[in-house]
Formats: sequence, structure tokens, C-alpha cells
Amino acid sequence: MKISKSYKLASRDFHPENTVIQIGDVSIGGGELVVMGGPCAVESAEQIDEIARLVKAAGGQVLRGGAFKPRTGPYSFQGVGVEGLIMMAEAGKKHGLLTITEVMTPEYVDICGQYADILQVGTRNMQNFDLLRKLGESRKPVLLKRGFSSTYDEFLNAAEYILAGGNPNVMLCERGIRTFETYTRNTLDLSAIPVLQQLSHLPVISDPSHGTGRRELVEPMTKASVAAGADGLIIEMHTDPDNSMTGDGVQSLFPDQFAKLLRELEQLSPLL
Ligand code: PEP
Ligand code: MN
Repeated sequence: MKISKSYKLASRDFHPENTVIQIGDVSIGGGELVVMGGPCAVESAEQIDEIARLVKAAGGQVLRGGAFKPRTGPYSFQGVGVEGLIMMAEAGKKHGLLTITEVMTPEYVDICGQYADILQVGTRNMQNFDLLRKLGESRKPVLLKRGFSSTYDEFLNAAEYILAGGNPNVMLCERGIRTFETYTRNTLDLSAIPVLQQLSHLPVISDPSHGTGRRELVEPMTKASVAAGADGLIIEMHTDPDNSMTGDGVQSLFPDQFAKLLRELEQLSPLL
């Protein structure tokens, strides 16, 4: 049965071939498993430099880190801002990594795009339509996170806003949804990976860090995501997670755990 969909450009019916996003020598969606790793937030030049070194040494391709943080409470650390963009760009360049950072408002798309290789739209902004329209005017690759209470249809319509503006470089990110369960921070919806790949041609990235909120669950859910067919992963890693400036230290891997996980993925991926 053919279901009529309200999105078009994001749909595989419209675009049967997989979208492959090429950034430098990294291709996303082309069969190579892409790993984005780094802290929740950029905290200092030394912190991001050291983490970049460790991400590279472990075999990751992209350095993640938020300079502008969408915190639930207004009194929490909000990120170091533009300084953080500069620190991360320098660390990425020095260690040979691409960079990804979150952009929260349309006004900041240009400046974030000037410093980062990939722009992240956070779960809380999945339906910030002005932001999506502005990203559509850009050609910068965008990682669009699923809203924590959004259906696949709403998610793909959000992607459609960016595509409709003329930017074809969109990847989808499953980062967990809100369910009745409270043991985990969110429920990582593994079905989203094959479902989105069936409905859409866009690359699908999994975020087991926010998807579980618990460090000890990141490894198994990373492996499960790869088994489910994810095109890439975005994983939080911190050199001193207990003292991280956001609450996300509890879900951040220690550097040795991150390195071990990537080694194990190298053995797992060829089997799938
Ligand atoms: C993050 O990546 O640090 C983040 C805030 O993610 P999300 O929007 O999925 O909560
Ligand atoms: Mn985080």
C-alpha cells in the first residue's frame, strides 16, 4: 500500500539513490561508518585540543562540541559562545578532523558555518522553522536531530524545510525519544534507523549518548546502532567527565572507552 506523504524531497520515492555527503575526504552515507566524537560542550582551548587529539588517535573523523548550549534551565552553563567556535576550529584543523557544532538561532547560522564543517540542529529546535529555512539557504551540511517527541513524519518534514530551501546536505540523527521509562534519559529508537533509511535517502546517524544518558549503555547501543545499519555515530567523550561543565558527563565515555569502542567497531562493521 502506498502511503501518501506530506514531504517530497526527503522521500526515497522521489530520490531512490542514497544521498552521500562529501566533506573533504569524509563521505557520509556512502557505506563508510563515520564517527563523530567529543565533549558535550567546548570548555577551553586546552580541553578541546586534547579531546581532538584523542578522537583522531582513536580513528574518529569528526570532532563534536557545543559552543552554544540549549540548556533546560536558564541558570545552567550556556556555552562559551563564539570563542568556543574558534577553539574548536583550531583543534579540528590541528588534528585533521572535521567539526560539528550546534546552531540554535537563524542569526548564528553564518558565524557557526564560518567555523564548523557541519551544523547541528538540536532536538529542541527540530521544528524551529525559521532556523530550518535559514539552513536551507546555506549549502553547509546539517545534522538534524529528531525532536524528542516527534514522529518520523514530523522529522522528515523538518528535513524537508532544509531541502526545500535548496540545501541537499542533510543527515538525520536519532537521539532518543521521551517514553514512560525514566531509567534511561531517553529511549533510543533503534527502529528509526531502518525506518528512516526506507522512507528517506538521507544518511542516518545515531546518538547513543543522549539516547541513553548513561555511560555504561553507550557501548552496547552504539553496537546495536551499527547492527541496525546506522551510517554514523555521534558520541560524547570527555577527559574529565565528572567535572564537565554540562550535566552530560554521566553519559560521556572516558577516552580509553571511546578508543576501545572504535576498535571493536572496526571488527564489527565488515560483518554487517
Ligand atoms: C548535544 O548534542 O549535546 C545535544 C544538546 O543534543 P540534543 O539536542 O540531542 O539533546
Ligand atoms: Mn550533550
